[in-house]
Amino acid sequence: MIEPIRKTSPIVIETLGDLINSGMRLSVYCGQALGPHPCGRRLDVETVEIARLFGRDAVYVGREFPLKCARCGSRKLEYRVGADPTIVPMAGDPFNRP
Ligand SMILES: [Zn+2]
Repeated sequence: MIEPIRKTSPIVIETLGDLINSGMRLSVYCGQALGPHPCGRRLDVETVEIARLFGRDAVYVGREFPLKCARCGSRKLEYRVGADPTIVPMAGDPFNRP
């Protein structure tokens, strides 16, 4: 009998812990980038710190964490997910030829 091909489970990065385990990070920016008094400051909070405050199981999609900008006091924040730039790629630089 031929076994059906089983698809592997998709990678789900749903929680702060998932982000950390996947080598990604959540950056928080002040949302007052527009208007008469633009700010746009990046908050001094790392993903690990957010996870410590709100739990590694906290879902970050669509969530508004109770944080505020230290410069303008705004609680209107923007969250951006990105790769951790400190990760060293396994493959070499394809443009760096000896
Ligand atoms: Zn601000």
